[in-house]
Amino acid sequence: MKKYKYIIIAGALIPVLLFGGCGTREEAVPTAAENADVSESASAIIPSEDFYITEITDDIFERIKGKSFKDDCTLPREDLRYIHVLHKDLDGEVHEGEMIVNKHIADDVLDILKALYEADYPIERMRLVDEYDADDELSMEDNNSSSFNFRFISHTTKVSKHGLGLAVDINTLYNPYTKVVDGERIIEPINGEPYLDRNADFPYKINEEDLCYKLFTEHGFEWGGAWTDRKDYQHFEIPNEIIAKWYPDN
Ligand SMILES: [Zn+2]
Repeated sequence: MKKYKYIIIAGALIPVLLFGGCGTREEAVPTAAENADVSESASAIIPSEDFYITEITDDIFERIKGKSFKDDCTLPREDLRYIHVLHKDLDGEVHEGEMIVNKHIADDVLDILKALYEADYPIERMRLVDEYDADDELSMEDNNSSSFNFRFISHTTKVSKHGLGLAVDINTLYNPYTKVVDGERIIEPINGEPYLDRNADFPYKINEEDLCYKLFTEHGFEWGGAWTDRKDYQHFEIPNEIIAKWYPDN
């Protein structure tokens, strides 16, 4: 299973390695050979083989069909990409991470997640939302980081940014969404309430000094924590002007 995956990926990665990745890699990121030397004594992990992008293969599609890729999904499967990365939790333990995003941002998200890994930035969980039956609340309650989950904006035929795979949520439990509606405060996930106090000190907190914030905004994303009518501290999205160019009919 795993070998099969790598065979597909090897082909997909060649153009990236030849043309896309080398320049940036030379600036800040150790080469694959350097990584191998460094990690040899500590572990057998060679990050360059663990960070990759593929199209939505049949195997992956089986996992998302009828869940995040809902039956009424209007976004073509071809517009999505599967990203595989490594990430570290608070204890520095390494985990495999998976995320599905729009093809337009796949390279950026891979670069960001790789930089976060190399900086030991803690991300607790990164599983496909399909493992929670595409239930956002359950995924957020579990502090899961994810992107694509098809849906229309309520009472419209417009696809939401997560529905387009053009928004990414990171460490969701500790960076909740909140809004006051008719005098009542909504908090998502519901167990994120202790983390609404952004002056308090707690792990996984995203603010404007945070590396995750810096990387996403450098790559052109907007942060939901900067909004004034509501706050979405976990959320990074592509601005409307850019999405209008990619999806003029949405
Ligand atoms: Zn979000």
